[in-house]
Amino acid sequence: MSNRVVQGRMVTPETLAELVEGESVLEAEDIADADRECPDCGGDVISVGYMPSVTEFVTGYKCQECSWKTTDRDE
Ligand SMILES: [Zn+2]
Repeated sequence: MSNRVVQGRMVTPETLAELVEGESVLEAEDIADADRECPDCGGDVISVGYMPSVTEFVTGYKCQECSWKTTDRDE
């Protein structure tokens, strides 16, 4: 299963990656459970690997309950 509910809305890997990145992405892998809790609300965090450009691969993290998000380039 690759679609998940984020903030009450069903997302695909591509739409989740676009939520995290803030713009469209080239490619996204399946959504996975991240082994972490949201620092803002304690909710479950999911992750998605994606390519914002042909030369970059980023892992994005997004809380399923609130608007918190980050990527591995910010950590
Ligand atoms: Zn949260």
